Amino acid sequence: MYLPMPLSESELTLIDKMLGGDRASLARLISIAESRHKSLPDILRRLAPDMQDPYIIGITGPPGAGKSTITNRLIKSYRDMGKKVGVLAVDPSSPFTGGAILGDRIRMHDHAMDDGVFIRSISTRGTHGGLSRATVEITKLYGAYGMDYVIVETVGVGQTELDIVGVADTVLVVLVPEAGDSVQTMKAGLMEIADVFVVNKADREGAALLSTEIKQVISIRRAGGEWTPPVLLSSALRGEGIGEIIEEVERHKAFQTDSGNIKYKKEKRIEREFAEIIRELVEEKIARNLADPEIIKICERVKSGELDPYEGASIVISKLS
Ligand code: GDP
Repeated sequence: MYLPMPLSESELTLIDKMLGGDRASLARLISIAESRHKSLPDILRRLAPDMQDPYIIGITGPPGAGKSTITNRLIKSYRDMGKKVGVLAVDPSSPFTGGAILGDRIRMHDHAMDDGVFIRSISTRGTHGGLSRATVEITKLYGAYGMDYVIVETVGVGQTELDIVGVADTVLVVLVPEAGDSVQTMKAGLMEIADVFVVNKADREGAALLSTEIKQVISIRRAGGEWTPPVLLSSALRGEGIGEIIEEVERHKAFQTDSGNIKYKKEKRIEREFAEIIRELVEEKIARNLADPEIIKICERVKSGELDPYEGASIVISKLS
């Protein structure tokens, strides 16, 4: 059972400092969210009145496509526009980081003097709820810090990249004209989740062809759809095509605001978060009860074959306290 707890002095100080723009305190709070510390719900509740709603841009695509290079370019453009940007790189394969990793420090280096930028990587391995849980909470922290945009980068591995749909307001799918990256070999589902396609490394051969291929598939699959994902060419290395990406993100944002889709997405996010919290609390309850002698007895009956496991589980659930 979750019972609201008063925050400690040091937690309150951390919150105040973060709200005052202190990045080290933001980093500490993100670590609290990532490690799922028990004070997190109370911290988030305390921050709720200060939380802005940042616009969330998801960037996904195969490793090496240029996602982080594009992100860096986007940060620069948004900063030039006076917008604050938080970046969350989600890596489903690396172990729990428990803090900023070397890569973050390298990426942060460019923005060392700029309080309007924060970059952080997290791993989702072993966490329940995959991408969404920690990501949504860290996005809230970014919102409280005053970020206007949050860029969530996910490596195109596993299920995570498809989960981005549940988290982001606009999804960019980055592809490159390299061996194996044709529309036929594209990972299932990737085509459907894109709001904007970016064919990066347009300085290399084959970019125009890949872009034509994608447009053809869109015209077949999305016929009659409300939003037709644009297919952009970029060379993030040279800084080309970045303005167009920003324009299309803004166009998609305006489109969704007009259609009410943005509101719908936010409600869906809250719904999912709520369901996950329920699951988390129920799981905690089960874990607490497993040592109960009565439940151990039921387990023994299941082991001996006297009781069907489903039947046994139903009895256990009915006895949970
Ligand atoms: P990520 O794994 O998707 O984040 O990809 P990175 O941004 O780390 O880029 C992978 C490699 O591709 C790096 O060596 C980049 O310098 C390079 N790269 C990124 N964008 C471009 C581009 O537009 N053209 C070329 N030729 N290389 C690029």
